[in-house]
Amino acid sequence: MQIMPGKLKIYNTLSGKIEEFEPIKPPFVGLYLCGPTVYGYPHLGHARGPVVFDVVNRYLSHLGYKVRFVRNITDVGHLVNDADEGEDKIAKRAKLEQLEPMEVAQHYTNAYIECITQLNVKRPSIEPLASGHIIEQIEMIKTIIDNGFAYEVNGSVYFNVLKYAQTHEYGKLSGRILEDLMAGAGEARRELEGQEEKLNPNDFALWKKASEEHIMQWPSPWGQGFPGWHIECSAMSSKYLGKVFDIHGGGMDLLFPHHESEIAQSTACHHANPAKYWLHHNMITINGQKMAKSLDNGVLLTELFKGDHRLLEQAYSPMTLKFFILQAHYRGTLDFGNEALKAAEKGLSRLFNALKTLENLKPGNQSDFNVKALEEQTYNALNEDFNTPIAIAQLFEAASWINKINDGSAQLIEEDLEHLKNYLKTFIFNILGLQDVEQLGDESQTDALMQIVLTMRNEAKAAKDFKRSDEIRQQLLEAGFEIKDGKEGTTYSKLRN
Ligand SMILES: [Zn+2]
Repeated sequence: MQIMPGKLKIYNTLSGKIEEFEPIKPPFVGLYLCGPTVYGYPHLGHARGPVVFDVVNRYLSHLGYKVRFVRNITDVGHLVNDADEGEDKIAKRAKLEQLEPMEVAQHYTNAYIECITQLNVKRPSIEPLASGHIIEQIEMIKTIIDNGFAYEVNGSVYFNVLKYAQTHEYGKLSGRILEDLMAGAGEARRELEGQEEKLNPNDFALWKKASEEHIMQWPSPWGQGFPGWHIECSAMSSKYLGKVFDIHGGGMDLLFPHHESEIAQSTACHHANPAKYWLHHNMITINGQKMAKSLDNGVLLTELFKGDHRLLEQAYSPMTLKFFILQAHYRGTLDFGNEALKAAEKGLSRLFNALKTLENLKPGNQSDFNVKALEEQTYNALNEDFNTPIAIAQLFEAASWINKINDGSAQLIEEDLEHLKNYLKTFIFNILGLQDVEQLGDESQTDALMQIVLTMRNEAKAAKDFKRSDEIRQQLLEAGFEIKDGKEGTTYSKLRN
């Protein structure tokens, strides 16, 4: 019999407390995660959010909830500078690379999804683009103006933070105090141009007027322009999850101004805080330092997987990175280093070796440990605000019992042995979403085999034995591989099953 998981509790940044999780309309759960701004290749910092919220998504589904998971793609409106000045990040890249802005966004979106897929992160139910929701953003801005919380100046629209703060608590999520912000913004104001349009330096742009040479622009009631960064998440989350949904997630770096602005916008538009629970994961540091361009310590995910960066002593598989991320609690800091990653690699193979050993274990006459108690503790760990490191510690505990049974110093009766298999597979594969790295290694074996076969076929062709080369092509097709002859040589692709 399966153990009934207890009650899930999660830390809500909004209240600053651990709260019991009660969805608004069970069994449905609406989950929104701020996705990437697609103007560059994904780096290490981009991996933590998807991995953390993948476990949130998987665990909620495991508990029987019907999760609608929305993760947006920011392909417009995210300016280089958070004070609403500077170039659009994607437009800037498009100019540099002489590409269509959508070409840039598509290219980096693909790169992002490829890397995230290698981490075995489940694709969201909906993955909306900011540029595909301009109308929704304009509608929301119109309502905010009608409700008296935004104003138009020279074709741009700004959110009136002071007006909002008279009747609402601005800063309730991030704990920022408006008076302090105003003092700080005064400093920033001197350095930045174009801030003079704002009634107050803390006001933020909902819509920005586009100059003629601006390559990404749309018509609006206020003239040609483009949306501000914060409004896209408010517009897309309310469109797909409703005005009030269950969980809004993101990195701690998004607490302010992004999420604080989202709350203000939704409150000003729909008279409601958009999400019941706000979850924030902490950031990844590298050898104790923040990742920064100036420090040249930003490791791209592709560099990590190939071991191709001056800070890396070897390549680390996507699963090693995922396991490394999950071995820390999501609200804690996570310092990236070769030693820590090597330890994660070892830990992961210990777990999968135990799984393999488990398959060959013979049942005994008695049970020397309580599998159900171990399983219950693993559930308890995840129920305590998704405490993956403690859950993983329980899995290691199970692994050492497996080794003891294997060397004859402990035993389990058949029923408990079956239960142990189910329990471990459920947590390792379904909930944590880990994959056996050795099985993944099969792909490089397949590739090596394919190269041998293709060489044989090329030799047949070179000897003008076209009957033989066609036979090989046909046999490969039957085995599920399609081959193509091109200028660069012969390539193959695996057909879908
Ligand atoms: Zn967002």
